Amino acid sequence: MKTSKGTVQEIIANLVTVRLQGPVSQNEICYLNCQVTDLMAEVIKVSGDLASVQVFESTRGLRVGDRARFTGHALEVSLGPGLLSQIYDGLQNNLRDLPGLFLERGLYLNALDEQKAWEFKPLAQVGHKVRAGDWLGEVQEAWIAHKIMVPFKLQGSYKIVSIQEAGTYFLEDTIAELEDGKGQLVPVTMQQYWPIKEALRVHAEKPRPSRIMETGIRTLDILNPMAEGGTGFIPGPFGSGKTILQHALSKQADADIIIIAACGERANEVVEIFKDFPELDDPRTGRKLMERTIIISNTSSMPVAAREASVYTAMAIGEYYRAMGMKVLILPDSTSRWAQALREMSNRMEELPGPDAFPMDLSAVIASFYARAGFVRLRNDHTGSITIIGTVSPAGGNFKDPVVESTRKATRCFYALSQDRADSKRYPAVNPIDSYSKYLEYPDIRDFLNTLHYGDWTDTIDRLKNELRKGQEAADQINILGDDGVPLEYHITFWKSELIDFVLLQQDAFDSIDASTPLERQEYMVKLVSEILDLEFSFTHFEEVNPYFKRLIHGMKQMNYSEFQSEGFRSYEQKLREALEEHAVPTV
Ligand code: ADP
Ligand code: MG
Repeated sequence: MKTSKGTVQEIIANLVTVRLQGPVSQNEICYLNCQVTDLMAEVIKVSGDLASVQVFESTRGLRVGDRARFTGHALEVSLGPGLLSQIYDGLQNNLRDLPGLFLERGLYLNALDEQKAWEFKPLAQVGHKVRAGDWLGEVQEAWIAHKIMVPFKLQGSYKIVSIQEAGTYFLEDTIAELEDGKGQLVPVTMQQYWPIKEALRVHAEKPRPSRIMETGIRTLDILNPMAEGGTGFIPGPFGSGKTILQHALSKQADADIIIIAACGERANEVVEIFKDFPELDDPRTGRKLMERTIIISNTSSMPVAAREASVYTAMAIGEYYRAMGMKVLILPDSTSRWAQALREMSNRMEELPGPDAFPMDLSAVIASFYARAGFVRLRNDHTGSITIIGTVSPAGGNFKDPVVESTRKATRCFYALSQDRADSKRYPAVNPIDSYSKYLEYPDIRDFLNTLHYGDWTDTIDRLKNELRKGQEAADQINILGDDGVPLEYHITFWKSELIDFVLLQQDAFDSIDASTPLERQEYMVKLVSEILDLEFSFTHFEEVNPYFKRLIHGMKQMNYSEFQSEGFRSYEQKLREALEEHAVPTV
């Protein structure tokens, strides 16, 4: 392939203008020769014989007149066995084995270990007709059967002319040879490359999500369920619990592969991930959580451009595993950092700014990112999915922020964290009234929920939300008119909503039992809470209401902290039932 060259014309921080000798394309990668090192950069705009490139590193020492060498391809990820449990930066440099968190400038590390041997087992035979994404064989990677696929870049149909027998191979060994229509042979190894900004389409179809993704987080599963293959986001002010909530999702959500794209808010957040994550146990498999996790992390020394790359690197790796029939969950934190990177570049290029100086096409960029999520049916009838739950951290917690607004349009679940709830330590601080899941409008999801749970789950959701709203109104009235200025009934209404909040919505992310609630247990507690909501209570004075309900709540929280259906659990329930008899009005 013929590639172009150029010379550095102008340098504004990470934005470099290159005078071209020959054609280059949008997103093409080039290297700028800066003294003894080569700095990687990406073309973000071409006009005439000038290209604007964003450099993924500090441009310190780079001079006008320095040489640029283009590569003929866009920024790509290496895909193959060995991705699981890795920690990469946005350019897929392997940070796991790095002593510090700082990578020397101009140093690009191998993403995958080419010295490692894998046990390959063929899944296809000589003579088979195959296309990009078809499964040729598999290797055991940690606990998953990692599929070796026909390279995604191959177009059209091929015939398998040779395939290796079961045995031990290295990443770069040829495991099959394919022949195209013209008799040309294509050797296939266990490693392939894909441009991160291009959506991978090797599936047969992408039907609408039709089942929910259990998260074990009650406020989500009960009130605003996420769909498998769905999209959602968590906006919230600084310190409201976005990262903790995402970490809870990474531990508990029903997914095979978790990909965290960490664009940390705090400098030490990334270090914490490095330290803590590899230690965590996986409650689903009993193994280490890290075995099904991949972390794409930005280090603080990295310029903004690398931040932008990391969300796409996470996505491309996610698409790779989805094509193997896996359930993938992608958690970008925080996408505001990514948007800021876009803003910085756009401003440097002196583009016409949109709201808050973000680029005009911010909405389109965010929408096309989230559009890569989805539930897919592969050509071999297996299914796979990518679910994305991002966070957004708007300045001052303002939900009118362009990133929040754009993400709201691009996603179907909105998990709004509220400062008030965080301040009063009502964790997770998801506001039950402002938040929503549009998946509840999908008939398939409604049917799924209604067959999964007792009775009509969707009616239960409406009912709980309604009681929460009524409780809020009662609280407002009590605030305005005073405790004794409202009918006693208002106090009961308020405390019934508090019971929903404390027992169902609040959940201790740091308690080994309460942290994760399986659906069966959620159902049990919802039923119990609903029973109490159905009861009429009688009190002689409003002052009795508060301590009484606090007692009920306390007892039910003890249930939440006990092993489900254990002796302790049952005895708390027994005591609760006795307490209920004190003030419940018997029904005939
Ligand atoms: P953000 O990412 O929104 O800035 P974090 O996720 O880092 O906020 O949370 C900030 C702090 O709030 C945490 O360090 C923790 O003390 C508290 N917190 C958040 N969520 C929970 C939770 N579910 N349970 C207990 N504490 C929480
Ligand atoms: Mg955070």
